[in-house]
Amino acid sequence: MKPLWKLDRTPPTGTPFDPGARHDVIIVGAGLTGLTTAVMLTRAGLDVAVVEAGQVAELATGGNTGKLTLLQGQRLAEIRKHHSASLVQAYVEGNREGMDWLVAFADHAGVPYERRVDHSYAQQPDGLEAVREVHSAAREAGLATRMLTRGELSDAAFPTSGAVALDDQVTIDPARVAQALAEELLAAGGTLHTGVRVMATHALPEPRVETPVGPLFAEHIVIATGYPILDRGLYFSKMRAFRSYCVSFRTSSQVPASTFISVDSPSRSIRPVSAADGPGAAAQLVVGGNGHAVGRSDGEKAAVDDLVEWTRQYFPDAEETHRWSAQDYESHNQIPFVGAMPRGLGRIRFATGYAKWGLSNAPAAALRLTTEILGAGWHDRPSWMVKIGTRLTVPADLARGAVEGAKVAAAAASGWVQAEATPVPVPRPADGEGVVANRGGRPVGISTVDGVTRAVSAVCPHLGGVLDWNDAECTWDCPLHASRFTADGTRIEGPALQDLKPLPRTSGN
Ligand SMILES: Cc1cc2nc3c(=O)[nH]c(=O)nc-3n(C[C@H](O)[C@H](O)[C@H](O)COP(=O)(O)OP(=O)(O)OC[C@H]3O[C@@H](n4cnc5c(N)ncnc54)[C@H](O)[C@@H]3O)c2cc1C
Repeated sequence: MKPLWKLDRTPPTGTPFDPGARHDVIIVGAGLTGLTTAVMLTRAGLDVAVVEAGQVAELATGGNTGKLTLLQGQRLAEIRKHHSASLVQAYVEGNREGMDWLVAFADHAGVPYERRVDHSYAQQPDGLEAVREVHSAAREAGLATRMLTRGELSDAAFPTSGAVALDDQVTIDPARVAQALAEELLAAGGTLHTGVRVMATHALPEPRVETPVGPLFAEHIVIATGYPILDRGLYFSKMRAFRSYCVSFRTSSQVPASTFISVDSPSRSIRPVSAADGPGAAAQLVVGGNGHAVGRSDGEKAAVDDLVEWTRQYFPDAEETHRWSAQDYESHNQIPFVGAMPRGLGRIRFATGYAKWGLSNAPAAALRLTTEILGAGWHDRPSWMVKIGTRLTVPADLARGAVEGAKVAAAAASGWVQAEATPVPVPRPADGEGVVANRGGRPVGISTVDGVTRAVSAVCPHLGGVLDWNDAECTWDCPLHASRFTADGTRIEGPALQDLKPLPRTSGN
C-alpha cells in the first residue's frame, strides 16, 4: 500500500541523534503540521529540531489526495450548521492564509503544482440540497463559488446531478512538498531526527521529550503527531478518526481537468494527475473515498476493491498502479484544535483535527503556533486567529461528542465479548487474514502475513480496546481511538505509544 507520491522518492537523511541536546523548539512529527511549523520558526531565527518516528511524510501527509482547496467538500456547510457565519469566515480566512503560504513556499522551493477548478458534487438528485448548503456557506464566507447543473459538468465522466465549483484551486504532490520543507529546514541548520519515536513529553522540571535513544530539551514543544500522543486534555475523546482509501490509475481515457469530491454517499474524490503536479508518467488519475471510522469496518480490502470497480465503470481502460490508505481526525466542534495543551505550562502545544483538509489547515495551524511561540499579543494577531482561538463549544458539539463516546463504549464492550466467544485453538488464518481469539481470558491477535503466522496481544496499550484486523493493510487497528500496529505488533500511529506484546504461538495457539 505505497502512495503514488512516494514512488521513487528517497526520504531526506536525518541528523545524527545527540542525546541531551537543547533546542529552542522540539516538534514531534514530520508531517505537514510539523514541517510547516518548523520552517516558519526557523525562518524567524529559532533553533528547531523535528523528531519523527518514521520518515518525512510517513502518515497522512504522504497518503493524501493532494488537493489544496478552500472549497473542501462539505466542510464549510458542516461548520455553518452549528456555528456563526463569522466563525466560518475566520476558518476560511485562516485556510486562505495557509494556502497562500504553501503556494508561496512551492514557488520558492520549485515544487510544481497545477491550478484547477474544484467541485463539491452531488451523485444523486437527493444530494443537491447539500450542494446548495455548501454554496451558501461558501458565499457567506466570501468565496466566489458557482452552482453548476449536470449539463454544465461536461468534464465529469461519472454520474453527477450538479455541483458547486470554485475556480483557481490547486493540486500538488504532497510528499514532494513535505520533502522540500524538510530540505529547507536542514539547509537552514535545523535538526531532523527520523526513525525516533517520542515516548513521553514533560513540561517540568523543564520541557523535554523522552525517546528510546535519550532525551531532548527545549523551551517549547509542539506535538504534531495527528492524534496527540499526550492524554492530557483528553483530546482523544474529543475527536473522531477516519481511515480512507486512494487508488491511482493509468488510463488513456479522457480524465477530468478539474477536481471533484462527492457530498453524498458513497464518498468519491476524483483528482487528475499531471507531470506538473505529481509523478504524472506513472498515473493519470487518483480516485479516493469509502472512508470509515478506524477499526470499525469489516471490509477494508473490499472498500478499496470497490473504488477500483467504480473507476473501471467510467474509465474502462483504467489500470490500477497503486493503492494506499491514510487516516485523519475531526474534532467534535468541527474546528481544528490548535494551541497550548492543558497542564503544559504554555510550553507544550499541539495541532490536529483537519477533517481531511490539512494542506491548507496545517500551514494555518503552523501560522498560529508560530505566532504564539514568538509571543505575539492578541492585538498583533490577524482577526481570524483571534476569532477561531476564542470560539465557544456549542450544544451540538457536545451532542456529537456524546454520540461518538457511545460508539467508543459500544466498540470497547463488543470487542471483549467477541474475543471471549472465540476460544483457542483457532484454525491458522489464511495469508493476509487475522483473527482475535480468547487465550485464558485475554484477547490474542493471530495473523498470517507473507506466510508467517504471528500472535500478539490484541489489547491496545492505550486504553485497553480490543484490536480489529485490517485486511487491506494487514494491521491491527483500535476501534476506540485509532491506534494502529503492524502484524508483528509494532506501533504505527495513534495515542498508543508502546508496541503490542508478542505472544508465543503455542500449538493450540
Ligand atoms: C485519504 C486522505 C486524503 C486526504 N486528502 C487531502 C487533500 O486532498 N487535501 C487536503 O488538504 N488534505 C487531505 N487530507 C488530510 C491531510 O493529509 C492531513 O490533514 C495532514 O496530512 C495532516 O498532517 P499532520 O502533519 O498533522 O499529520 P501526519 O501527516 O499524520 O503527521 C504526523 C507525523 O507524526 C509522526 N508521529 C506520530 N507519533 C509519533 C511519535 N510518538 N514520535 C515521533 N513521531 C510521531 C508520524 O509518523 C507522522 O509522520 C487527506 C487525508 C486522508 C486520510
